[in-house]
Amino acid sequence: VHEMLIDLDKKHFIHPTSSLKQQHESGAPFIFSSGEGVYLTDTKGRKVLEGMSSLWNVNIGYGRKELAEAAYEQMSKLAFTNSFSSMSNEPAIRLAAKLAELAPGNLNAVFFTSGGSESNDTAYKLVRYYWKLKGLPDKKKIISQKKGYHGVNIGATSATGISPFHTLTNSPAPDFVHVDTFSIDSLKACIEKEGADNIAAFLTEPVQGAGGVNIAPEGYLQEVRAICDEHNILLIADEVITGFGRTGKMFACEHYSVVPDLLLFAKGVTSGYIPLGGVMVTDAIHRELVERSDGTLLHGYTYSGHATACAVGLKNIEILERENLVENSRLMGEELLNGFKELQMEFDFIGEVRALGLIGAIEMVHPITKQRFDSFIAPRVSEEAAKRGLIVRTVVFEGMDTVVFSPPLIINKQEVQELISIMRAALAAVQEEL
Ligand code: PLP
Repeated sequence: VHEMLIDLDKKHFIHPTSSLKQQHESGAPFIFSSGEGVYLTDTKGRKVLEGMSSLWNVNIGYGRKELAEAAYEQMSKLAFTNSFSSMSNEPAIRLAAKLAELAPGNLNAVFFTSGGSESNDTAYKLVRYYWKLKGLPDKKKIISQKKGYHGVNIGATSATGISPFHTLTNSPAPDFVHVDTFSIDSLKACIEKEGADNIAAFLTEPVQGAGGVNIAPEGYLQEVRAICDEHNILLIADEVITGFGRTGKMFACEHYSVVPDLLLFAKGVTSGYIPLGGVMVTDAIHRELVERSDGTLLHGYTYSGHATACAVGLKNIEILERENLVENSRLMGEELLNGFKELQMEFDFIGEVRALGLIGAIEMVHPITKQRFDSFIAPRVSEEAAKRGLIVRTVVFEGMDTVVFSPPLIINKQEVQELISIMRAALAAVQEEL
């Protein structure tokens, strides 16, 4: 069966974000067929520890029957109904209210999407619309960061600063500008250059994921909040990865005591069991949209407020709360970081290590120069880890040579130790070659 699947995979399945040539020649190395807790099993019966929660999103781990039951129950009753105009459904209403309770500050209203890219494009349209309603139609530029990742729709790709992701767009959308990552000076210079009257919003991940797990330094977001207020610029926090406990708080903005004007989520809201995302907005923005717009809000996806997706989201959040998984993320994150520090002492080609909750990274550097190696080392480490039953991911662009981690929030001490010892063995194997 495995060989047959590999063959069909090569012929018919265009894989997202992958080397198509390599996939076509060698086939997918893993075809996963089941999952339990922090482990996945493939069609050859190999069991691996999922150090990435797939794409930073399977927060409550694999094989949770309760989510399957929630979906089954909702689908049996009413799988879907649209939310356009005056229609609504109970799971969407209850999830919207629950999110308002969980989100910091006065982020009390939500526009649902089916994923992070849609949440981003929705946010860019909402902020432009907001300023237009206020009689300031020129305020439309979206400022984001060079190592930021925001998705793959035309808008989200344009806001993404990591340049290799621009390969497919040919010409980027206008009115997107990138500043240096976590640099207040760069942001100030950009506002000066572009003019606050032309800027709709500043967009940031509190902890960048795809850019290599870069954690906003203490004080940065607070300063950004003050600058945005001073210049009448809206602040958008992309919490697509960081939301729902990933960093040891329900939302990463809470680490910095900052309330953005818009908060974007996806991934962890359903732990990936079903696609769902959204944009939370403050009461002030919600009020403007309600009071000033006279026609229809001509923006909505067929699946905005999908009843089954929202029912799964509600159950997922219930489990996060019932099992104290946000606190577990904080505690196991400390354990993980301690493990990284041990590895750093043992291997002279590990540079900086960092983690906030259960999102972390280790950097590869030349032992003597402490600069990047001439060729990337992280992919070799990841390969050796996979051979030993651990899935991790690498970030190797623009000088980064980094292994990143984002295990399920249910991980326990013993499993963190297992992750670290597999990494130790993988690093030792790579050290032989250096
Ligand atoms: N924003 C961030 C911070 C992300 O990490 C991602 C995906 O990894 C996205 C947006 C895009 O989300 P999606 O892949 O669900 O469209």
